[in-house]
Amino acid sequence: MLKLLDISKKYGDATHKYPFEPYVVADNFRGKPAYKFDLCIGCAACGIACPSNAITVQFNEDQSKLVWEFDCGRCIFCGRCDEVCPTAAITLSNEFELAVKFDKNALIQRGELETQYCSKCNKPFSAKRLVHYGYECLSKANLGEKRLKEAENYLTVCPTCKKTATATSFTRGEEMVIE
Ligand code: SF4
Ligand code: SF4
Repeated sequence: MLKLLDISKKYGDATHKYPFEPYVVADNFRGKPAYKFDLCIGCAACGIACPSNAITVQFNEDQSKLVWEFDCGRCIFCGRCDEVCPTAAITLSNEFELAVKFDKNALIQRGELETQYCSKCNKPFSAKRLVHYGYECLSKANLGEKRLKEAENYLTVCPTCKKTATATSFTRGEEMVIE
């Protein structure tokens, strides 16, 4: 018994006074993903990477907004969203006290982004922020004014219209240009 007390004295406290004192988590602790709406471009990489479908990115009913939604009740704190997000809009935090009172909807977080409509067919296909982000990246690539303008036009066209333009130019044997 005395030996045990000696060992305890040597190593100090092994327990914490939580919840009477704040609990300090370890470095790189994987707590609740924290979402920064202002940084989100609506690329949906987090939604694709999320293994438990805790994150969804889809248009609302009238397609006027691209809705980013996170259900903390489904999250397994794997950190895939944090790894793939290109703008650090979602990062794992140290937060671990996640209980809510009675209403499971309190676990849900949403962000609504402006829809980008196709400049050819006017169908919604992306978020305006994503198109802007793509343009910002390309404008750093020294493309020259003409190519940059072409790239800007290209970014505002939906995948279906891009495919049609590619097929048309291919059959004519011309270079594809979207104006
Ligand atoms: S931590 Fe994992 S489970 Fe939770 S939202 Fe991110 S990707 Fe999904
Ligand atoms: S910017 Fe980050 S948080 Fe927003 S949709 Fe893309 S991956 Fe998800």
